[in-house]
Amino acid sequence: MEPAPESLTLAHAKLPNGTFANIEIAGGLISRLSPPGATIGGRTIDLAGAVVLPRLVDGHVHLDKTLLGTDWVAHVGGDSVPDRIRVEKAVRKSLRESMEARAQKLLERVIVQGTLALRSHVDIDDEIKLGHLESLLQLKQRNSALVDLQLVAFPQSGVTSLKGGAELLDAALTAGADCLGGLDPAGIDSDIEGQLEVLFRLAVKHEVGLDIHLHDPGELGAYELRRIAEKTRAEGLEGKVAVSHAYALGAVRDATFGHTAEQLARAQVAIMTNGPGTESLPPVKRLIAAGVTVFAGSDNIQDSWSPYGDGDMLGRVRHIGFLCGLQTDAELNMALALTTTNAALVLGFAAVGVREGEPADLVVVRAQNVHEAVAAAPPRQLVIRAGRVVARDGVLLEDLR
Ligand SMILES: [Zn+2]
Repeated sequence: MEPAPESLTLAHAKLPNGTFANIEIAGGLISRLSPPGATIGGRTIDLAGAVVLPRLVDGHVHLDKTLLGTDWVAHVGGDSVPDRIRVEKAVRKSLRESMEARAQKLLERVIVQGTLALRSHVDIDDEIKLGHLESLLQLKQRNSALVDLQLVAFPQSGVTSLKGGAELLDAALTAGADCLGGLDPAGIDSDIEGQLEVLFRLAVKHEVGLDIHLHDPGELGAYELRRIAEKTRAEGLEGKVAVSHAYALGAVRDATFGHTAEQLARAQVAIMTNGPGTESLPPVKRLIAAGVTVFAGSDNIQDSWSPYGDGDMLGRVRHIGFLCGLQTDAELNMALALTTTNAALVLGFAAVGVREGEPADLVVVRAQNVHEAVAAAPPRQLVIRAGRVVARDGVLLEDLR
């Protein structure tokens, strides 16, 4: 891999705050923001007023599920989550392309769109056991110069309802998973207290955070959210727990919503949304107003769960903002934060900004300002990792394989 150049200046850049500057980069960091007319030397790229954003963060993907790189697989779906789990296992066995090759392809797809940090849930079940995790730990290592990858041990087939489920998750955390997942304590395990007991016990034992998929609907889902918040506070895990999807928050009475959001905020339990099309959507503005951290993720990208998705986080927050009525400039800033500061905070990655002293992990977008960058999600002109240009106009500049 090419070493980072000694220095690089991005001239005539539009910063997120709307002002123009030259972004001077040295040693992988933003060394100085100088006025546009200032004298600069060394290697320079004239951005001609293009917007520079901090790196994008995808708070929820499934690298091991994608079908990218295979012949098109017709979507089958199913009437329930267990049905769809069965379909996925059958599809998984029919593929010729390896999981590693498909995951690498997806990783490269997201990097060229400016995603330089992501959280991937990884299936842990009684068939594949730790196989996917071990492969993705290697992929994480291979790509560490380009992207910060966090792996979540995800019990796609259940925890207490799966024989040996808790032991597999324990082993996954010992093997190096960064975080522990969960899945519908009621809908999958029919055992709310049992699943949560296992998850919180293992999180405390291994000193990791939790990120629980929760599709359970309505009052049932809201009850589970409040139990998660209570257990988070009881175990002192404030700020280390997230719930992905939480469809229930978009489908309960105002009184239930208010009571539940207040408990989530007090326990610092964050909520991830991908802007689901057919499900109720957690109300982003109301949650943020209630003090809940909301962040964004792609979730499924062309896999057995959905034929849609392209891994573009600007496109994702545009979609979420559209669904949630985020329209003023302040609300477009809120949408951008779902994939920048909020997501970085939840994942525990440094929230990189376009400021002196920060790592030069940057995305250059052809837009007038950050608001248009969210509203239109235009193509990425450059992606810069630690001061090195790694992608230009959607093409990765280095062979990573
Ligand atoms: Zn998911």
